[in-house]
Amino acid sequence: MAVSVLFVFSLLVSCAVAEEYKIGGIFYQDAEDAKVAFTISAKMYNFTPILREVSKRGETLEVSEHVCSLAEESVLGIVDGIGGRSSEIIQALCDTMELPHVVIRHDVINTKNWSLLNLYPSPTAYNMVLEKLVLEKEWRNFTLVYVRGNSLLRLQNLLMMGNDTDKYTISVRELDGSDYRDVLINAKENGYTNFVVDCPSRYLEQLLRHAQQVGLMSDEHSYIIISPDLFTLDLERYRYGGVNMTGFRLMDLQSNDRLWNFTNQFNLETGKSLQTEEIKTELVLIQDAMQVFSAALEKLIYIQTQSLSCENYESWMYGSSLMNFMKTNKVEGLTRSLLFDGRGLRSEVIFDVLELTSSGNQTIGHWKSNELTIQRPFIPDTEIIEESVLRNKSLKVLIALTPPYAYIKESDIKLEGNDRYEGFTVDLIDKIADILGFSYEFEIEGVYGKLDPDTGKYTGMVLKLMEERADLGICDFTMTAERQKAIDFSTPFMTTGIAILYKQPSKQPPAMFSFMEVFSKEVWYYMVLIQLGLGVIMIFVGRISNKEWQNPVPCIEQPEELSNQFSFANSVWLIIGSVMQQGSEIAPIALAPRMITSIWWFFTMVMVASYVGTLVAFLTVEKNVVPFKTPEDLYKQKSIAYGAKNGGSTMDFFKGASNEIYKKMYQKMQSKGWAVNANDDGVALAENSTYAFLMEGASIEYYRERHCDLLQVGNLLDQKSYGIGMKKNSPYKVHIDDALLKLKERGQIQKLKDLWWKDRRGGGKCQEKHEDSAKRLEMKNMSGAFVVLGVGCLIGLGISTLDMLWGVFKRSVKYGTTFKYELVEELKFALKFSGDVKPVKRPPKTEDGSAEALADPEGKDDIATLKSHFSGKSTSTRRTQHSHSSKHSSSGLSVAFARRREYT
Ligand code: GLU
Repeated sequence: MAVSVLFVFSLLVSCAVAEEYKIGGIFYQDAEDAKVAFTISAKMYNFTPILREVSKRGETLEVSEHVCSLAEESVLGIVDGIGGRSSEIIQALCDTMELPHVVIRHDVINTKNWSLLNLYPSPTAYNMVLEKLVLEKEWRNFTLVYVRGNSLLRLQNLLMMGNDTDKYTISVRELDGSDYRDVLINAKENGYTNFVVDCPSRYLEQLLRHAQQVGLMSDEHSYIIISPDLFTLDLERYRYGGVNMTGFRLMDLQSNDRLWNFTNQFNLETGKSLQTEEIKTELVLIQDAMQVFSAALEKLIYIQTQSLSCENYESWMYGSSLMNFMKTNKVEGLTRSLLFDGRGLRSEVIFDVLELTSSGNQTIGHWKSNELTIQRPFIPDTEIIEESVLRNKSLKVLIALTPPYAYIKESDIKLEGNDRYEGFTVDLIDKIADILGFSYEFEIEGVYGKLDPDTGKYTGMVLKLMEERADLGICDFTMTAERQKAIDFSTPFMTTGIAILYKQPSKQPPAMFSFMEVFSKEVWYYMVLIQLGLGVIMIFVGRISNKEWQNPVPCIEQPEELSNQFSFANSVWLIIGSVMQQGSEIAPIALAPRMITSIWWFFTMVMVASYVGTLVAFLTVEKNVVPFKTPEDLYKQKSIAYGAKNGGSTMDFFKGASNEIYKKMYQKMQSKGWAVNANDDGVALAENSTYAFLMEGASIEYYRERHCDLLQVGNLLDQKSYGIGMKKNSPYKVHIDDALLKLKERGQIQKLKDLWWKDRRGGGKCQEKHEDSAKRLEMKNMSGAFVVLGVGCLIGLGISTLDMLWGVFKRSVKYGTTFKYELVEELKFALKFSGDVKPVKRPPKTEDGSAEALADPEGKDDIATLKSHFSGKSTSTRRTQHSHSSKHSSSGLSVAFARRREYT
């Protein structure tokens, strides 16, 4: 009796002591992810991980040393992450020592002993499933592509199909090295468009990329990929090309919280941010291996580890019992049921069969109990439910009863559950759930949440999401930096910004100088400038036009001097007289000034008509004069109260603003108690009192559709967006983002917005309203008249220049001077812009002492003069006499005239 008590006691003690068992792991040095997975998985099952690293492939000696050292450390078993030939060495040693050897790779190790456990689906399972898939797809020919070193054993059945040459044609290609393109081009040349690919997952990405580069990824191509990691890759780039890719998935994505935990731990440890469906099968199998060990230990009443030496050919006395339990226990792992046959190979494996479609990855069937079931959903692409971790999940979704995002539904009968609510966010969640295949239950939470400076804790929706009391939060949930520290937001579904909501002010009569508002400032400036410019042009053109030099006293036949009416005062008078529609006694004589004057009259006619036509509107329309246009103006107003929603991001914007005025506005809102608790309260205040409500533009848009006496003042003060909130690093984020993008692309979010803003619940009430406002005339309205004036002036200037040149030419002939000389003198005189009197030139005295008769300045005898000039006979020796007449010496009379003319 005493002996048996002692035995039981020693059993209990030894169990308690041996609580932390050791598990050995052998991995390649560069297999970082596998090493992390091994360490965290061991710890998750309370094992002490002992890791051994192999420096390079094929190092058999190193491998056997590691096995022996692990055996000496009294491990429970060895997780083998290296595979290949080295695995056979591990197996041989483990067989001898009766130490469980757990393989997680797709290797075929022949052993008669039973210390092997391979978690990877056996070649038999693969052979069966591949054969069935080829039959299902009704392929008549295909190319088998495999990477060198991979055993063809798992393709045995497919190769056998080739024996039936009438039915199937099979070609085989081996891939080697790192560039697969040549082999793939070669495979393409045989014309087969179907491929079965056996490639380790680490090379798969490269293989697919090379296949795409050589044109083997179009809609005529079809693939069966043996690696269960195909759908852990990002296949976005192949998704829309139409290629058909079928693959497998061992992991059970649904209802598997352990997979989430594992992924989270893995992400924390590696700093990666993988989703559960992106975790490689090998890593998950490491976790399953730990589970197999752990489950077997639970079944064993007593076990004691033992330090084993390779040299002494020792074997572990509990090894075979442990192995027995490991093989026979039915365990639900991350890769579903872990059942093994007598040889330690997995039996009754369950796979999902997946296909890449333009809407993403779709599960099209299952392999279970050695049966392939394909249930390809025959539904339009747009309606295919995305393959995701959200499928069949039930989520708790927080909403806020803020119109129009969510309302309590009005109904005569008592409604239950989600039916009680309606609104924009209610419909939006419904559409997302349709795409992702989850169900949901709403919970109301009116406080959106922020960091409480007193407690240092978040509040409201943010807190509930952080603490995983809810899965999603959807409302006008502004994405702020502060909230983003605590939770994640989806991609935005709406963009807005802060603006001011205010009551339409009463109409005011036009201001005193409203007649000035008919033209924009620009037009007025141009009008003044053009009048000055035109004055200068008129003077110049007048001075160079011969006909404008007139005899001031018509009764004197031979005047001593000629005068010109285009003095500065006269030109300005002519211009202003026509603008005022009054005319003036100034009448141009020469062609060019007449032309410019007519164009000016036309221009003034257009301007005056436009002005008068528009003036009426400006004098009669009464305007809404808002007493402020910006928050700064609002702050300066003493008689208007203003506020924002308490605890919302708008209030936070003013609180944390760098603008001093905004900060003061925040303090005033707080001290005066002007803040409100809900948008509805702020809107009521704005409508019924002198109150400006600072609110987000999207909500202002909504209220303005229903409250016609409210308006938005000024532009948006900032840019912000609404997103769906969820806990940090939520596995749902990618899927929700995807679904939102899809809805945006299809225009469904805009449709929902139009429905809830403009249609439902009283929308569209203020649509008819339009602002009566007189439209001022801008430069763009009047530019035509300015152009006509400009062109007219240019033509006038051209004509007067020709006129001047003609005069200059005549004079040079008449007085025997050079053309250039006369031109320079003429221009000098014209450009002086002073002296509107011009002396009449006199010819030099004849020999009989009398002056040459005619006083016509470049006048009547011109033709005769020119004729004689061209016939070579000089009729006269007259020359123009100017101040520098010493050069053209002549009589004193001429010199005197020249001085009066003041050319120089
Ligand atoms: N959208 C705001 C928030 O998420 C509430 C409304 C507001 O502050 O104007 O806090």
